[in-house]
Amino acid sequence: MLLFSDAAAVFSEIEKRSGRLEMTDVLSTLFKRTDGKEIDKLVYFIQGIVAPPYEGIDLGVGERFAIAAIASASGYPAGEVERQYKKSGDLGDTAEALLSKRKQTALSTTEMGVTYVYDAMIKIAKAGGQGSQDVKIKHLTELLNNAAPLEARYIVRFVLGRLRLGVGDPTILDAISVAHAGDKSLREPLERAYNVCADMGYVAKKFYADPESVRDFHVEPFRPLIPALAEREDSPGSIIKRLGRCGVEMKYDGFRLQCHKKGKEVELYSRKLERMSPMFPDVVAEIRKLKCDEIIFEGEALAFDKKKGRYFPFQQTMHRRRKHGIDEASKEFPLNLFVFDILYLDGADMTGDSYRARRAAVQRLFRGNVLAPSQMKIVRTSRELKKLFDDAVSSGLEGIMAKDLDSPYTAGKRKFAWIKLKKSYGKSVDTIDGVVVGYYLGRGARAEFEFGGVLVAVYNPGRGRLETVAKVATGFTEDEMVELREGLEKIKTKAPPLNLDCKIEVDYWVEPKFVVEVAFDEITESPNHTCAMHDGKGLALRFPRMTKMRPDKAENEITTSGEVARMFEIQRARS
Ligand code: ATP
Repeated sequence: MLLFSDAAAVFSEIEKRSGRLEMTDVLSTLFKRTDGKEIDKLVYFIQGIVAPPYEGIDLGVGERFAIAAIASASGYPAGEVERQYKKSGDLGDTAEALLSKRKQTALSTTEMGVTYVYDAMIKIAKAGGQGSQDVKIKHLTELLNNAAPLEARYIVRFVLGRLRLGVGDPTILDAISVAHAGDKSLREPLERAYNVCADMGYVAKKFYADPESVRDFHVEPFRPLIPALAEREDSPGSIIKRLGRCGVEMKYDGFRLQCHKKGKEVELYSRKLERMSPMFPDVVAEIRKLKCDEIIFEGEALAFDKKKGRYFPFQQTMHRRRKHGIDEASKEFPLNLFVFDILYLDGADMTGDSYRARRAAVQRLFRGNVLAPSQMKIVRTSRELKKLFDDAVSSGLEGIMAKDLDSPYTAGKRKFAWIKLKKSYGKSVDTIDGVVVGYYLGRGARAEFEFGGVLVAVYNPGRGRLETVAKVATGFTEDEMVELREGLEKIKTKAPPLNLDCKIEVDYWVEPKFVVEVAFDEITESPNHTCAMHDGKGLALRFPRMTKMRPDKAENEITTSGEVARMFEIQRARS
């Protein structure tokens, strides 16, 4: 049995390291001491989750409840816990400090294994209904009563969703391989297994039971895959140069859905792999009618504006659904799902088949009005490709997706098997996806919304740190301002995110959760921002403006500081 205190000691070691290699080493020593019954739980803990996102399990513990539990476990009044928290800015640190000067010692303590702590987290998450908050506080207090100060630091951060050890999924996979084989040779099959089931705990458990099993991992209904992603090129010519003869599909600006069916049971997952079925009952009903028993496929959902005879962009599709209610919106703004890939059909995993073969199946299976194949044509020349791109843009679409006819489905990877060419190509405007780390209050005309803008960061995967790149004060619609302000208000924190490098002040710090797309004219060097910092200078966006919110994108999928640095280099070369 792995003691939670041993895990906590390793977490504290990891926090002191910044390089991936060092983290992998430290983590692999922990994995060596872990057995097959607890490895899944330890892996989830390190990921900062109790289960994969599609399970929809939320701990639902707010700061107030954590403060109450710390107070009762330490014997200090809640007011004192709060006062200390204001000073430290991290409730985990506060719990550690107060428990080390405990006013009372528990009568008896249980030795806590990783499984014990994990099971308690599940009890906390599952407590629902009336009086559930008291039950959550009771379980958390019990844990803290048994915990040494260092354990308390990580328990409290975990329940608040702020563990952020800075260990990314690739590091966990490397460490499992190193623990077992002494090197990273098993990383590839482990990674493939993870990409086709999106559940690292499950993969680790299977691997510990039989290391060979990960080489033969298959796609299954109701275990969503991590979606394949597209690379970008900036002209039709460069796409043809790379792919030669290729399939060109219309690129729809909708909501990406991964659809799973087994018998009459249907489940839809977002790009972030959250369950979406309640939001799209009309799509679910159509999928039920499909003439196959088991299927997994992907498509882009869009609402049609009957008045204007064109599709609403993504933002409006979702807005309509929220505003008008799902049933009404389904009638007034009917949805289409443009199916662009198929990954599994009646027992056969199709992810290894070529795009050509998968596309043939899409065309054979989807012939309805609601579920229709995305438009596709095979082209040979850049002139043919350019014509399709122009047609797409003039009919109000975002651009095109060019696809390599011979490539398999590359779950979880950004590859040149798919290449996007978007409307912005040829213009100087580019965009990044960043996460909001803080916000400003409005001044002057904006004061009535009490919202003045946001501080946005990108991710440095090598260092496991968030680095700021822009203060964004324009481009928000009024609806977006209200939505952002309300959303950010709920995730305010007293201190900056633990893994943020920042030299700028804000009015309020927030949990790094809201992903936004930001357009800019240029990238400049700046002593104030920390993105790709070099010789005291970071990179910053010039004239940043918000283009849209990206609720469909996860915090760990944002633009990296390396990508911003590459954009800066390209810009330099051009000028
Ligand atoms: P990415 O998904 O590459 O991280 P992003 O989320 O900013 O980037 P885009 O760059 O606009 O999105 O393009 C990729 C997205 O385009 C896909 O994730 C998918 O949702 C959407 N899409 C629209 N039409 C298609 C299509 N025909 N084939 C594949 N994807 C499509």
